[in-house]
Amino acid sequence: MDLRFTAEQERFRADARAWLSDRLDGPFEKVRGRGGPGDEHDLFDERCEWEQELGRDGWIGLGWPAEYGGRGASLVEQMIFYEEYARAGGPGRVGIVGEGLLGPTIVHFGDDAQKRRFLPGILGGTEIWCQGYSEPDAGSDLANVQTRAERDGDEWVVTGQKVWTSLAHWAQWIFVLCRTDRDAPKHKGISYLLMPMQQPGIEIRPIVQITGHSEFNETFFDGARTHVDNVVGEVNGGWRVAMGTLAFERGASTLGQQLDFENELRAVTDLARANGNTSDPVLRQRLADAWIALRIMRYHALRTLPMMEHGTLTRETSIHKLFWASFHQRLGELAIDVLGPAGVAGNDSPLAGVFLYSRADTIYGGSNEIQRNVIGEQALGLPREPR
Ligand SMILES: Cc1cc2nc3c(=O)[nH]c(=O)nc-3n(C[C@H](O)[C@H](O)[C@H](O)COP(=O)(O)OP(=O)(O)OC[C@H]3O[C@@H](n4cnc5c(N)ncnc54)[C@H](O)[C@@H]3O)c2cc1C
Repeated sequence: MDLRFTAEQERFRADARAWLSDRLDGPFEKVRGRGGPGDEHDLFDERCEWEQELGRDGWIGLGWPAEYGGRGASLVEQMIFYEEYARAGGPGRVGIVGEGLLGPTIVHFGDDAQKRRFLPGILGGTEIWCQGYSEPDAGSDLANVQTRAERDGDEWVVTGQKVWTSLAHWAQWIFVLCRTDRDAPKHKGISYLLMPMQQPGIEIRPIVQITGHSEFNETFFDGARTHVDNVVGEVNGGWRVAMGTLAFERGASTLGQQLDFENELRAVTDLARANGNTSDPVLRQRLADAWIALRIMRYHALRTLPMMEHGTLTRETSIHKLFWASFHQRLGELAIDVLGPAGVAGNDSPLAGVFLYSRADTIYGGSNEIQRNVIGEQALGLPREPR
């Protein structure tokens, strides 16, 4: 595999760099470097404007096919954009769930009307989405969802509870897994519904996190409604679609995040230098290991992410998720060690936020244990986990 960039890719990089510095050194300076882990609750309105600015100039949905309003950019071009985004200090994206999870799901599984209705809002940065999968008794065992939807004329009526719903307090729409046939085997009675959030039957209760902020919520449905046309895939066939979304969540949508890790490692290294603890041989090893892991992640992503763009969960998806989540947690631990005692005593350094937030990386999007189960079965051919 040739990992050098072509002249065309270098031109693409120059365009992206110029566009980003124009905005982030100018009218959007306020959001530069903001909205990352531990800071994701801040500057929401400003970051919404940023989302729309990205959308206006076609920087959302880079990898989506041109026929659906994307740029059809290759994985290398997407990587280049994210590299430049991270280098320029682009802010944490409020539209990440729409762009990374729901958009590709609609492109792959949605009907034409859904593509026309929902893709432009994501591409334009005007509609924010959240993900209604997890419930108190359905996380790793997602097929156990109990939130139910019942047909009433040309609407579905939804009752139940979701939990850990990131961004629910900001989102205009949610994609929600509901049980639509209670008599069917558990994977077969689920549908994938798109539902407006601003309506009387939905109540959102914030959950305070270890960071002291509330990025996620409990979401209660009590007779909330959505039109029958808003089912993605078949009624009772939502499991396949749900797994497609998870493949996107664990795959290419993580590219940008990986490049943020580079910025974090740079900040940790600079701090270690400033603190004068780079002479500690163990710390030096850990910094070097982190740098190596980032290179591995990058090349692994370029080699394997194309396999993940088809909405199918594979062992590669699990390897990728397990590797980056474990890496980021180690990076958080390294950050806190470099910060020293101040890091755990009310320090508001962004690096302390990285440590706290990275505790979640090995849980959301499928926990490490679940990824290891998949790898055990699909890569090593071990006997299936007893169910
Ligand atoms: C920061 C954050 C954001 C999130 N955002 C969202 C969101 O926007 N929308 C949404 O729907 N959900 C969201 N989640 C929820 C997330 O998807 C779940 O937390 C995750 O799927 C794990 O489910 P659980 O919390 O119910 O844990 P459980 O499934 O109860 O697991 C508890 C522990 O048991 C282990 N375990 C469970 N089953 C097995 C098994 N078969 N083999 C081995 N070990 C097992 C797990 O690995 C874990 O360590 C978010 C979670 C976090 C932390």
